Amino acid sequence: MNSFSITLLKGDGIGPEIINQAVRVLNRAAEKYNFKLNFTEAPIGGEAIDKTGVPLPEETVKVCKSSDAVLLGAVGGYKWDNLPGGKRPEAGLLGIRASLGLYANLRPAIVFEPLKSASPLKPEIIGDSLDIMVVRELTGGIYFGKRGRTVQDGVNAAFDTEMYTEKEVERIARKAFEIARARRGKVTSVDKANVLESSRLWREIVTKVSKDYPDITIEHMYVDNAAMQLIRNPRQFDVILTSNMFGDILSDEASMISGSIGMLASASLSDSGPGLYEPIHGSAPDIAGQNIANPLATILSAAMMLRFSLGIPHVADEIERVVKDTLKTARTPDIWAEGYRKVTTDEMGELIASAI
Ligand code: NAD
Repeated sequence: MNSFSITLLKGDGIGPEIINQAVRVLNRAAEKYNFKLNFTEAPIGGEAIDKTGVPLPEETVKVCKSSDAVLLGAVGGYKWDNLPGGKRPEAGLLGIRASLGLYANLRPAIVFEPLKSASPLKPEIIGDSLDIMVVRELTGGIYFGKRGRTVQDGVNAAFDTEMYTEKEVERIARKAFEIARARRGKVTSVDKANVLESSRLWREIVTKVSKDYPDITIEHMYVDNAAMQLIRNPRQFDVILTSNMFGDILSDEASMISGSIGMLASASLSDSGPGLYEPIHGSAPDIAGQNIANPLATILSAAMMLRFSLGIPHVADEIERVVKDTLKTARTPDIWAEGYRKVTTDEMGELIASAI
């Protein structure tokens, strides 16, 4: 029987509530599909500050590194809001991403058919359903480039530099092509090659890598056009491959198409170590402890973990199918509508687990 070790970073606010439901679903999936999961909990964020004085204890990093995958809830809350930057809960999040060398960020933007009315786009634009994967480079580009303040012609000035190496572009491109291979077989690489030299290198390398994936359709698109096309005709996209800054903006745009923050999962991957899986929402301190948070973003993140880190995509497919089915009858308050059963966080977890 296959056995996997999973680190749980429950974090703060609704973090523990939503992770508990993901664990419930994972345990049921393990029982049904005959694999074993060993969970280890470690503190991060506010919880870690209270216990150890720092948002990311070394022991937490060690435990994460020695596991097959990491599932994270969320960090942050009012209690720690007045701490200085590096001591805040969010520093734990940036720290664990850096420690694990996570250079590929995967953000699916999915509109499940039963939730079509939650999307701000017209139903005819969405069609039956929508499923886009944004693959964003996470550790290079302008957010990590040379920056500074200067004085030019007697006036204050500032600069940030976009730089990519061939190696950085190649590895994220390969990730995107491999992901597309398990989906609908199309990669749209988004850049600004009509203006930026770094984008011209990006396009050159992506084109070169594409030769190794003749079964995948490659298309290049300028970022301004991509921003428009996501709203005008999002169904043309399968995998969107892009740089750190463009991905930051486009993944938020794409995720809004789904219309519900409680539904959005994410994965961050490295080459060889464990991946990190987390919902894109925060710790929602305004609803923490009330058993009303939507656990589906976390459950869908757990499904991504089964697909990308544990190599059991058929189990991920099953969880996603059950989530879609369950939405036809039951909803947590954030996505509730007339005619549906209103359920708690626990009940939603139980409904998904029992339907597997
Ligand atoms: P948030 O995502 O926590 O909440 C925004 C709004 O969405 C709130 O009204 C909240 O109740 C609602 N919401 C979020 N997730 C939900 C869910 N699963 N079910 C139902 N409703 C949900 O963003 P925020 O309010 O800006 O930040 C709150 C805290 O979270 C801050 O301390 C912030 O720094 C932190 N944060 C953490 C992460 C992370 O851990 N990855 C990401 C963003 C924000």
